[in-house]
Amino acid sequence: MNKSQYPLLNCRKPLSYVAVAVLMTSLILGAPSATGAASEIRAEGERSGTDIALSGIYGVQATVDKPARAARSKVAIIIDDFGNGMRGTEEMFALPVKITAAVMPFLSTTKQDAKRAHERGYDVLVHLPMEPRQGKPEWLGPGAVLTSMSDAEVRERVEAALDNVPYAIGINNHMGSKVTGDERVMGIVLAVCRERGLFFVDSHTNYRSIAGKLAREQGLPPVENHIFLDDVHSAGHVLKQMRLVQEHAQDQRYCITIGHVGIQGKETAAGIRSGIEELKDTVDFVGIADLIKDQWKWNARLTLP
Ligand SMILES: [Zn+2]
Repeated sequence: MNKSQYPLLNCRKPLSYVAVAVLMTSLILGAPSATGAASEIRAEGERSGTDIALSGIYGVQATVDKPARAARSKVAIIIDDFGNGMRGTEEMFALPVKITAAVMPFLSTTKQDAKRAHERGYDVLVHLPMEPRQGKPEWLGPGAVLTSMSDAEVRERVEAALDNVPYAIGINNHMGSKVTGDERVMGIVLAVCRERGLFFVDSHTNYRSIAGKLAREQGLPPVENHIFLDDVHSAGHVLKQMRLVQEHAQDQRYCITIGHVGIQGKETAAGIRSGIEELKDTVDFVGIADLIKDQWKWNARLTLP
């Protein structure tokens, strides 16, 4: 299997509304003290809009009356495209925080990477290849889910992928801009997740994804990626994205973000490492399962082998 057959994902998007929200908060709080006050308030992600407004009016006093530290915002870093001996694998396994490893099925290092991730204490996801609206079919990798398949074929593919990646506690999509917009196919993927006590993380390669809506309907948590770290392949860009992750986490209490091993995997890992160093005093880095438990009170009865 030629590694270059599986280049990085298509369609990534930064979350520009985060920057807008931060700016709005700063404006409401007043320019002179905005930087200090806003960052302090954002550091306590649990507080409501009312709290924020009151703090703006009463300033330091309101802050001092609070307990020493509210629950910190949580960040889950998912690294996609493990399973094919890709560049950056070693660097990702050497990161100083818990990450989530999304491992592609049926490839040369699928089982090895999943086992290693599990032994390192990382959460493992099946990184399930799914048909995109554009892009070459060979980018998908083996075992892909296509919209042309029958219900039974889709189910077989999902179950086979889950059986192929040891320790998986959920699925996220590799590519998949077409499948995540397809109610029939996505419904089957989620049904298999539900039957097995797993969750689905929408990588969000499609603005019109219906995965979250269908997940809610099936009683699953509507989990989705917020920020792709490495649309631009430099450590500097990844570090900038990590700062957006921090803002999103502090505004929304949590943030899910995705990077990749692959052609630029070492640069992505270097940028993530720098970001962790910058962010570690203000957010907690957690596995995706802990974040989901915390955010959606999700408590699947899953027994790992
Ligand atoms: Zn991928």
